[in-house]
Amino acid sequence: MEVTFLETGRFFADGGAMFGAVPKTAWCRRYPSDEQNGCILAMRSLLIKVGDRLILVDTGAGEKHLKKLAWYRFFGYRDWRELLREQGYAPADVTDVVLTHLHFDHCAGCTYRREGSLALTFPQARHWVSRRQWENFKHPHPLEQASFFPEDMFPVEQAGLLHVLDAPAALCPGVWLDQADGHTPGQLVPRLTDDGVCLVFAGDVIPLAASVSPEWISAYDLAPTVSYDAKLRLLDEAARTRRQICFCHDAYTPSARIRKTAGGLFVLEREQN
Ligand SMILES: [Zn+2]
Repeated sequence: MEVTFLETGRFFADGGAMFGAVPKTAWCRRYPSDEQNGCILAMRSLLIKVGDRLILVDTGAGEKHLKKLAWYRFFGYRDWRELLREQGYAPADVTDVVLTHLHFDHCAGCTYRREGSLALTFPQARHWVSRRQWENFKHPHPLEQASFFPEDMFPVEQAGLLHVLDAPAALCPGVWLDQADGHTPGQLVPRLTDDGVCLVFAGDVIPLAASVSPEWISAYDLAPTVSYDAKLRLLDEAARTRRQICFCHDAYTPSARIRKTAGGLFVLEREQN
């Protein structure tokens, strides 16, 4: 198995929103922000080559919404054709696209505008999403609605390339898709296990290395108490199995191992306390 981290661009998110009830005096010691309280977030995807499969996890915000979402101050946009070419692939080589969830910063890259209509970025790929996330996308709660754009996913469904998962499942040997609630229902959490690879893509369950404390929960999460439980489960398992955690939104720490201290705190392995 070969795993590559790829970034499709960056944007600014409000620090208060990213850290929820945690006061700025505490989070500013773990994550930098600018004079507008903006924190730079990455949009990190995984490219996995395993056997005859070429799997992509998350597709970023794409380009088509960037103007109307100007308050996020997107920058450094990268096109998938270009990113894949650098890795020796073309978009049509991608066999599977795993979408952790359908917020635009994770799935909008699945479609793009071509001569006034929408085209699929990965025209040969099966696109995987959980059943509960798909239902949620079709019938969103008003509080979550602004994060979903029909044009990101309905063309995928219309092309017959949408595959919904009812339960946690193996995508192929070495790639397990777990599910976690809290941020949004049925978020897929890919776990990779292979010779020399032991990694979990934490998605928005743990978006930043700074969010490894279970109670540091983003204000974007629909159900913080549920997020807490999901995160604790993920952290406990990652610490026990010495699994690397990929933080999809962290602009400074793409991944890290964590450990549990004698006092029950989760810290990045490189930290001492
Ligand atoms: Zn996100």
